[in-house]
Amino acid sequence: MKISVIGCGYLGAVHASAMAELGHDVIGIDVDANKIALLAEGRPPFFEPGLPEVLTSARDSGRLRFSTDIADAAGAQVHFVAVGTPQKPGSYSADLTYVDAAIEGLLPYLSEGDLVVGKSTVPVGTAARLSDLIVASGRGATLAWNPEFLREGFAVQDTISPDRLVYGVAPGAPGEHAVALLNEIYVAALAADTPLVITDFATAELVKVAANAFLATKISFINAMAEIAEVTGADVTQLADAIGYDARIGRRFLGAGVGFGGGCLPKDIRAFTARAEELGRGESVAFLKEMDAINLRRRQRVVDLTVASLPIPVHQAKVAVLGLSFKPHSDDVRDSPALDVAVQLRGLGAEVVAIDPQAIENARARHPQLTYSESLEETLRGADAVVHVTEWPEYRELDPVWAGALVRNRLVIDGRNSYDSTVWRAAGWEYKGMGKP
Ligand code: NAD
Repeated sequence: MKISVIGCGYLGAVHASAMAELGHDVIGIDVDANKIALLAEGRPPFFEPGLPEVLTSARDSGRLRFSTDIADAAGAQVHFVAVGTPQKPGSYSADLTYVDAAIEGLLPYLSEGDLVVGKSTVPVGTAARLSDLIVASGRGATLAWNPEFLREGFAVQDTISPDRLVYGVAPGAPGEHAVALLNEIYVAALAADTPLVITDFATAELVKVAANAFLATKISFINAMAEIAEVTGADVTQLADAIGYDARIGRRFLGAGVGFGGGCLPKDIRAFTARAEELGRGESVAFLKEMDAINLRRRQRVVDLTVASLPIPVHQAKVAVLGLSFKPHSDDVRDSPALDVAVQLRGLGAEVVAIDPQAIENARARHPQLTYSESLEETLRGADAVVHVTEWPEYRELDPVWAGALVRNRLVIDGRNSYDSTVWRAAGWEYKGMGKP
C-alpha cells in the first residue's frame, strides 16, 4: 500500500518507519526541514528506543522516503495525519491550526478513492468537520479517525503490535471502503488477533481522550491518597499494593510520585474539559480539573519537601536533580515534572545541577539557566540534596553507599518512590518519599 504520513514528530516518524517496516511504501512529510533532513539520513530527530533500527532498515529497503513538500503525498492511497495538537497558549483548548493546515495542504493532491486517516488527538467533533471539508472538495476522498495509543519509550513496539485498533468511520459505503483499506494496512496486527473496534467518528475521538483521562485519574487518585498519607503517617505504597490486589482496581498506574507530564496527558485532559464546556457538558468532566490540580501539587510537594529538609537555606544549597524527561526511555521534556522541579528549585536560588541520559539538549533549549552535567559523579559531588524525579534505570539503581561518598549532605527526595528507604537509611541517608513515613 502506498502511504503518506503528514507530520513526522514523536508519533509520525515512528508510524512512517513502522509502516514501511511492515512492507508498505511510505513517504513521510513534515514542514520542519531539519527534522526531514535528519530522517532522510536515517537519524531520528529524537530519542526513541528501537527507532534507529527500523528507520534505517526501512530506508535501506527503499520503502521509506521523506519530504518537506506536501505535493509528494500525491499518489499515496492512504494519508495519515500525525501533526501536533498542542494546548493553545492562555487557554485549555487544543490548537487545531496544524491539523487544519495539513488537511488544507493535502486536499489538492487527493484522488478518487484516497483515504485520509486522522491519528492526532483531537477534540470530539473535529473528524466530522474535516470529513465534510474533504467530501465538499469533490476529490472523491474519504476520512477515517484512527487514534494512536503508543507510549513514548515503547513507541515502535506499540505501533507494530498495538494492544487494540480503533477505526472511526463514516456510515455506509465510504466507511466500508475506509475499513477495507485500514484492514489492509494493519493486516499483520489483525492476523495476530489484535482487538479491533469499528465505530463512528465521535466515539473514536472520545476513546483516545477517555483513555488518557482515565490514566490521569488513576495517577492523581493515588497521589491524592499520598497527600492524605503525608498527614496521617500512612504508607501510600503499601496502600497501593493492598488495593491493587483487587482485580477490579489493579496495581498498574498506582505509583505515587511527582505525577504525570509529557506532550499528551496534561494537554489532553485540559482540552477535554474545554471541549466538554463548549458542548454544555462541562460538569461531566469537571473532575479532570481536580486531577490536573492534584498532579501539579505533587511537583510543588517535591520542591517544598526539598527546601524544608535541607539543613541550610535553599539559596546556599547545591541540589542534584536526577532526570529531566517526563518519563524514562524518552528525551521528551514537554510538561515534564522533573524539569519543572529543577526550574522551581533554581528559581528559589539553589545551585541546581541536573542530569539525564537523553534529555539534556531539549531541557537546555528551554531552560539555559540550569546547570547540566553528563556525569553522575559530578552531579552528585558536593550536593546538599539529591532529588530523584525521572525513573531511568541508572538513577533507580543508584547505590546509596557510592552516592553517599560524593555528596556533602545525605538527603534524598525520592520523587518516584523507587528506592528502598531501609537500604538508604542504613547507608546514612535522610530519606523522603512521596506519601511515605
Ligand atoms: P510532535 O510535536 O512531536 O510532532 C508534530 C509534527 O508535526 C512536528 O514535527 C511538526 O513540524 C509537524 N507539522 C506541523 N504542522 C505540519 C503540517 N502542516 N504539515 C506537516 N507537518 C506538520 O507531536 P507528537 O508527539 O508526534 O504528537 C502528534 C499528535 O499525536 C498529537 O495530536 C498528539 O496528541 C498525538 N499523540 C502523541 C503521542 C505521543 O506519545 N507523542 C501518542 C498518541 C497520540
